[in-house]
Amino acid sequence: MPELPEVETVAATLYPHVVDAAFTFARLLRPASLHPLSLPLETLSGLRIESTGRRGKLLLFKLDGLQDGVLVAHLRMTGRIFTGAANSEAGKHTRCVFGLRMPDGAEKELFFDDTRAFGQLLLATPDILAKWSFWRNLGPEPLEISADAFAERIKGRRPIKSVLMDQQTVAGIGNIYADESLFSAGISPLRPAAELKQAEIEKLLASIQAILRESISQCGSSIRDYRDANGNAGAFQNTLRVYGRGGQNCVNCGRELTRLRLSGRATVYCENCQK
Ligand code: ZN
Repeated sequence: MPELPEVETVAATLYPHVVDAAFTFARLLRPASLHPLSLPLETLSGLRIESTGRRGKLLLFKLDGLQDGVLVAHLRMTGRIFTGAANSEAGKHTRCVFGLRMPDGAEKELFFDDTRAFGQLLLATPDILAKWSFWRNLGPEPLEISADAFAERIKGRRPIKSVLMDQQTVAGIGNIYADESLFSAGISPLRPAAELKQAEIEKLLASIQAILRESISQCGSSIRDYRDANGNAGAFQNTLRVYGRGGQNCVNCGRELTRLRLSGRATVYCENCQK
C-alpha cells in the first residue's frame, strides 16, 4: 500500500508528464471507483493541470479553471496512476482513462489502474472536500509538524502503532513506516500511547521524519506492485530493518524479530531493542 513517500514519488514523477496538460475526456470504466461526493468527471473537460501534489496518502492534481478544484486519487491498497500513449488499450484493471492534450498539441492518456479496486477518484471544489469526512479529519503532515504539536496528538490507551497509523493523528503513515519508525526510536509498537514520555515522543517524531525523508530520496519502497509514474520501482525496501522481516534476526542485537497482528495488521518488532 503506497504511503507518504510512495505517493510523494508518484506526484513528483507524474509532474513533468502532465503539467499544463488539459483534460479532453474522462472514461470511467468502473462507476464505484468514483467517490459518491465527486463532481461528474465530464466537468474536467478543458481544465488544465496546474501541478501535482500530495496530502497524506492522497495524490492530488491541482486544476486551473475550477476555482481551487482538485482531482484526488485515493490509491488505497493497489491504485496506480500513470500516463500512456493516446488510444492505448485499457488494461484488465483499468478503472478510469483520461485524455490529455499537452501545450504543444500532443495527445496522451492518464490511467487509473486498481487491481483490488479499493481506491477511488474524487473531483472536488473546496466546498466538496469540506464535506468529505476523511479529508476534513486528516491530521497534520508528519514532515511539517512540531514536536509539541505531535506530542499533543499522541494520547489514549491504544497501542502507539495504531495511533501512528490513524490518519487523524498525522497523515501519511501506514504499516511500513510505523514499524520502521518505532524500531528506529526503540519503542514497542504495543505501548499504550499515553505512556510515552516526552523524550520518547520527540525521538519518535525525529525517527519518523528521518525515515520518511530517506525513503523519499530513494523513491519509496516497492512492496508488491508499487511503481512510480514511470513504472520504476523504489529502492527503500532494501533499507527496511523490521517491516516484512518477521522471524529473521534483528539488525541491531541479532535476536529473532517478533511478528504478530495488531489491529489486523502484520507487525514486526524486536522485543529486546524496543521497550
Ligand atoms: Zn534487537
